[in-house]
Amino acid sequence: MRVKCVICDKIESIEDESFEAKRLRNRPIHTYLCNDCSSRISEKTKARIDTGNFRFYRTQSEKDEW
Ligand SMILES: [Zn+2]
Repeated sequence: MRVKCVICDKIESIEDESFEAKRLRNRPIHTYLCNDCSSRISEKTKARIDTGNFRFYRTQSEKDEW
């Protein structure tokens, strides 16, 4: 199936049977992101994690191990 990236409008084709295709068919509201854009977004997300706007539970076991 052909999908269009919502960010850069790039048309890509994905396997009809792929997880992504099924996801998009089941929930058309789900938008497709090409690899470039999704990696860009995950970089941004990581950057936000670095600035501390995201809160993660620090694993307690980390401390215990030391
Ligand atoms: Zn894109």
